[in-house]
Amino acid sequence: MSTLASEGGRPVRKDFLVFGRPQIGEAEIREVVDTLRSGWIGFGPKSLRFEEEFASYVRAEHVLSVNSATAALHLALLAAGVGAGDEVVTTPLTFCATANVIAHVGAKPVFVDVDEDTQNIDPERIARAITPRTKAIMVVHMTGWPCDMDAIADIAERKRIPVIEDAAHATETWYRARKVGSISRFTAFSFYATKNMTTGEGGALAINDDAAWDRLRALRLHGLDKDAWKRYSPGAYMPYEVLEPGFKYNMTDLQASLGLHQLARLEENLVVRKRIWTAYDAAFADLDEVITPQPTDTAHTRHARHLYTLRIVPERLGIDRNQFVAALAAENIGSGVHFVPVHLHQWYRERFGHARGDFPVAEAIGDTTLSLPLSPAMDMQDVTDTITAVRRIVERHRVTPAYAPGFDDDEALREAA
Ligand SMILES: *Cc1c(COP(=O)(O)O)cnc(C)c1O
Repeated sequence: MSTLASEGGRPVRKDFLVFGRPQIGEAEIREVVDTLRSGWIGFGPKSLRFEEEFASYVRAEHVLSVNSATAALHLALLAAGVGAGDEVVTTPLTFCATANVIAHVGAKPVFVDVDEDTQNIDPERIARAITPRTKAIMVVHMTGWPCDMDAIADIAERKRIPVIEDAAHATETWYRARKVGSISRFTAFSFYATKNMTTGEGGALAINDDAAWDRLRALRLHGLDKDAWKRYSPGAYMPYEVLEPGFKYNMTDLQASLGLHQLARLEENLVVRKRIWTAYDAAFADLDEVITPQPTDTAHTRHARHLYTLRIVPERLGIDRNQFVAALAAENIGSGVHFVPVHLHQWYRERFGHARGDFPVAEAIGDTTLSLPLSPAMDMQDVTDTITAVRRIVERHRVTPAYAPGFDDDEALREAA
């Protein structure tokens, strides 16, 4: 067995494989240059064209382009009328932004635990967490696999509150023949640098509610009335009116230049993502020390394959997840951790009295999973290198069943193997 790089051996590859490397094509580069030369780089015609094309892709009535998914989620909460003293039921297994925006409007995030296989919020637990103060349910389609939206919509309808979907991982996701973006009143998408499509920074809010759309269109840009964007484009002076103090949440035409072409390639890139995913599944199938992601596509439900989360089995490996991530980095393979559950972060612990043990499933997933590189910018060598590195690390650190966890005599272990 070759020595691991973390133990002084030669790394699997020479250059570092960046986790979530974006695929930027010539079309994007040409479009950005065209925008740069056009004399107009701010929010304008390309952002509006992007909104139309994105709305048609996600089958939403309306789409607002914004500067992040975080901004989109914040706008959705405002439109839902969530404010001080209210509660929003959400998942702890997410990026902090999902919960932070709930705090931004003065409300309390009420976390409920997730399902072990899908990593998504458990509808039964949502139902039990509803109180008279609950004003919205915010769900996350973790890794790109959709939540149980029928069950969640049932709960929301009974309570007459909106569902806000955090679809940062789920731009390509379908749920029972319905496109994510068409299902709920609000759906937020992210075009952050590592997401399935990127505008560097950026996001979109899909809105299926005419009144909310009217208000948010203004709130997204200082609260100016609806044609105000024309003020920002070449041409005549446009008088404008402030309807309410809004936010500076707009996208720019530079970002939209990337977005238009990223969107156009999304479907073909998903085929590549699926191919890499399948290669990982096959390569790790015989390893008892790791668990490959569980959910797979069914006839009318589609995984966006944003994150390939490999779960280690602590009893069978002599190293923990963080050591695994470090060992991979030593082999020049970048990986990610999605996520340290939000309730374990300092502010959430102190503010709401959360502690380890509150949401055991989310914590177990948060402790034991790592995300492998998964990007259409990868070639087959990148995939092979990742597989080689994972297998080497597992083979070196596997604990043979005869020895209890905690047994740490490496020499004896190697003899036994
Ligand atoms: C990336 C991410 C966000 C934030 O997206 P931004 O566009 O960076 O604001 C929100 N939620 C989840 C689950 C994410 O992964």
